[in-house]
Amino acid sequence: MPEKNIAVIGGGPKAAALCAKADCLNRFGDNKIRIEIFEKAQIGAAWNGRNGYTDGEQRLCTPAERDLGFPYVDGIEPGVSALMKQEYSWDAFQMTEPALQDNYSTWVSRGRKSPIHREFANYLDYAVKTAGITPIIGEVTSVEWADGRWKVNYTETASGDAYDVEGFDGIVFTGPGPAQGKVPKAGKLVHVGSDRLYNGEDFWDNLSRVRAQLSRGSRKVLIVGGGGTTAAIAAWFIRSNNGHHSIAMINNSATLFTRTVNFFESVMFDNENAWLALSFADRRKFTDRLNRGVVWENITDILTDAKDLVLVPGRANQVSLAPGKAKRLVVEYGNELGLSHKHEADIVVDATGFDGWWFERLLPAALQGQMQAETRLGLEEGMKSDLSFDLPGWPKIHAPMHSQIVAPGYMSLMALGGMADAILRNYR
Ligand SMILES: Cc1cc2nc3c(=O)[nH]c(=O)nc-3n(C[C@H](O)[C@H](O)[C@H](O)COP(=O)(O)OP(=O)(O)OC[C@H]3O[C@@H](n4cnc5c(N)ncnc54)[C@H](O)[C@@H]3O)c2cc1C
Repeated sequence: MPEKNIAVIGGGPKAAALCAKADCLNRFGDNKIRIEIFEKAQIGAAWNGRNGYTDGEQRLCTPAERDLGFPYVDGIEPGVSALMKQEYSWDAFQMTEPALQDNYSTWVSRGRKSPIHREFANYLDYAVKTAGITPIIGEVTSVEWADGRWKVNYTETASGDAYDVEGFDGIVFTGPGPAQGKVPKAGKLVHVGSDRLYNGEDFWDNLSRVRAQLSRGSRKVLIVGGGGTTAAIAAWFIRSNNGHHSIAMINNSATLFTRTVNFFESVMFDNENAWLALSFADRRKFTDRLNRGVVWENITDILTDAKDLVLVPGRANQVSLAPGKAKRLVVEYGNELGLSHKHEADIVVDATGFDGWWFERLLPAALQGQMQAETRLGLEEGMKSDLSFDLPGWPKIHAPMHSQIVAPGYMSLMALGGMADAILRNYR
């Protein structure tokens, strides 16, 4: 029986959606798809609050109904979306898991709120287990091309030993990548005082230290950035505020843009024809405005009520220790008027972004060279409808986090079912 093997690097929502869809597709016809997940920590690691990115208590911004099967269109095989709804939807998870705080009817009575990140991680774990997949727990260190197929090299997390698995027809890289604090740090800060400087990933790993710093009299908090991570961190400070600290956000765009549930915006995530009728520039404008650098309404509401929160327009150029003040940091920032300012703070979070191209260093040198010969914009604009880069001569590399030209919702949680169809269609 023909079987296609796909390696998914990272055990998050994209991996869970691919496992669920492959399981449902495999019940129709003779062609089978086998998914292998390589995950360095646990399924849902970036959501459970134990591995950075979140404390697990934040609420998902997207509605719960935009779950692993959304938008429930039979993109490949008639009958698959009904099966997905029955076995892999958020509703199915709630009806199946007796340990949940809310069962299905209580969730409806409470207004069908989005899950908190920790619950979402449990949902992902449920889906992977339901699909009968046991992830390989290890950190992928490189991938190689062996006889026209991918070979994945990894270090097993428990033992630290190196292993490999070969024979993959395609590989899917997921995840936003590690935090990439873009603000230059003055040399001394690397050694001294950096316990007061965090980024969008490690901030959440250090909440007890941050709480201790606040309780020992740290009064001024400064967050650099203007997207969802900045807003979530600001909201955490506001929730833990005992009325004693002030928060400033330095941001180089005019404001914090808010995302609300708006039919004309939301429907674009599910309307392929309307999307394909737009120019590349207009597609980017849409995704930048609605996916990146945007704060969902539930977070904006928290920020709006805060008394000691200010938005400072400017571009941060450097963070260093404040001269003569052992525990203070100073951020220098400028603006288009050519003016330069300094802002002192007790705690600084550099929430300026993540390295979405983190997987490039895992690829064979020849392929890295081929990719670097193109601009990153060019790679994204040349992406095929199966979310793979156009790299003649190489087996497929799918990178849904870079699919903003192909579709607006395949990078995020907006259309995980559509994302899975786009990739798996190629293997049937
Ligand atoms: C805190 C947070 C909240 C977000 N909230 C929303 C939201 O509400 N709605 C929305 O639409 N979008 C949201 N996003 C943005 C975006 O949707 C997600 O980043 C993206 O969908 C993540 O899903 P994923 O499956 O690609 O990867 P992730 O869930 O990030 O999973 C990647 C996994 O890869 C693993 N990993 C990393 N390197 C390796 C390696 N070398 N080997 C093996 N494993 C590795 C990590 O441990 C991690 O578990 C959020 C992003 C973050 C960071």
